[in-house]
Amino acid sequence: MTLAVRYMTARTLETAPVEFSEPGPGEVLLAPAYVGICGTDLHIFHGDMDARVAAPAVLGHEMSGRVVRVGAGVEGWRPGDAVTVMPLRWDGTCPACLSGHQHICQHLDFIGIDSPGAMQQRWTVPAST
Ligand SMILES: [Zn+2]
Repeated sequence: MTLAVRYMTARTLETAPVEFSEPGPGEVLLAPAYVGICGTDLHIFHGDMDARVAAPAVLGHEMSGRVVRVGAGVEGWRPGDAVTVMPLRWDGTCPACLSGHQHICQHLDFIGIDSPGAMQQRWTVPAST
């Protein structure tokens, strides 16, 4: 378990223990140190993105922290390394990706909006991010 800040409903955040996953192949487990609050986070907080964000949701996509553990096959990162995360994960197979426009991937995962974000003490993300 780790402690996380979760969006519950409009104008309501809570701090609660949540499960975190150990890093699988190609993933890293991070210890976020600082998390920025983006304008998008404020839209979520105000309830303007409830159609997209499934509460309870761990927010946070602008962060810095350190690597805790690396999953199998991860090269170039080791425990203690200082990191930030580029919070976009694309599929690499759709027409947008194949034409070099990964930022508009048809299956784009905006980490911290579409999947759990950095406002937690332990956070597992793809090492590629
Ligand atoms: Zn794509």
